[in-house]
Amino acid sequence: MKVTEHIKNAKKTLFSFEILPPLKGTSIQSIYNSLDPLMEFKPSFVDVTYHREEYVYKKRNDGLLERRAVRKRPGTVGICAAIMNKYQVDTVPHIICGGFNKEETENALIDLDFLGIDNVLVLRGDPIKSETYFTADEGGHKYASELLEQVNGMNNGIYLDEELKSSAPTNFCIGVAGYPEKHFEAPNMRSDIHFLKKKVEAGADYIVTQMFFDNQQYFDFVNLCRENDITIPIIPGLKPLSTAKQLSLLPQRFHLNVPNPLVDEVLKCKTNEAVRQVGVEWATQQVKELIEFGAPCIHFYTMGKSDNVQKIVSSFS
Ligand code: FAD
Repeated sequence: MKVTEHIKNAKKTLFSFEILPPLKGTSIQSIYNSLDPLMEFKPSFVDVTYHREEYVYKKRNDGLLERRAVRKRPGTVGICAAIMNKYQVDTVPHIICGGFNKEETENALIDLDFLGIDNVLVLRGDPIKSETYFTADEGGHKYASELLEQVNGMNNGIYLDEELKSSAPTNFCIGVAGYPEKHFEAPNMRSDIHFLKKKVEAGADYIVTQMFFDNQQYFDFVNLCRENDITIPIIPGLKPLSTAKQLSLLPQRFHLNVPNPLVDEVLKCKTNEAVRQVGVEWATQQVKELIEFGAPCIHFYTMGKSDNVQKIVSSFS
């Protein structure tokens, strides 16, 4: 079922979870181990992130370095199919511009369609670690809005090969990313909203936000979107803080602010166990306020750890 149908049919705020494929060489059991405790909360859907290649340097026998492209977390599509099969839950694979040309994207979408996957989260992807700026692959897309146009085209039976006649249209529900604290490359919020609106005009059905720790950021973002005639559902993304290190790691990686009261509470903690508890209490309060605000669904970035998310969601069921 489509994410938008889940939202339309819901009588209360829904929950959804996002997982990462495990590192290459790890069994899929690790995914089941983190999802098993969460399935009792009947998530409406489970997102599976996509991780493009990274470049590593290997020393050759002649002493020279060889650059190799390695995908450390492959398996997004297989995990989606396995989860659907095991738990009978809808999955949302993330698809990105980076590392794909249009032909490869089309073939990937055909696989997803044949597997009965109804949703995709369409993203640009970050620059690869060795690059400062995002570079599109030759024959690939530069922005999420362009990738979205391709998905939307296929939803209308338009494939790359113009000679294909009576092609079967796909029927993907399309999610996109939104940034309550602005995307780090956008010169300002107005510009970021302008391009978010382009994604909506190109056919996006719903938005999932980057994580935030201050709900006011989400409330302001939703209001700004509505003022700009972006009317589709905006799903808040939450990540419970779980280690003291994340106080610097999350702002560095995701370009967000951590509010002072949360920083103060974390700094008082003597152990990471205590930090996890602070993270659970903070996120539980966030969920409470987001439900009161009328958020359609609350999306948890589990990052492979489910015990804290389990504690939070259990307070609301
Ligand atoms: P876009 O919407 O293309 O925007 C990128 C930047 O370009 C923004 O600053 C925007 O304002 C600007 N812009 C957009 N269109 C134009 C234009 N036409 N001209 C000029 N500027 C423009 N990354 C992964 O690699 N894998 C994942 O699974 C993944 N999952 C994510 C899930 C969520 C919910 C979120 C919020 C992010 C996720 N990301 C993931 C990270 C995401 O790929 C990065 O944040 C990336 O830098 C931007 O992606 P986007 O889809 O928002 O890009």
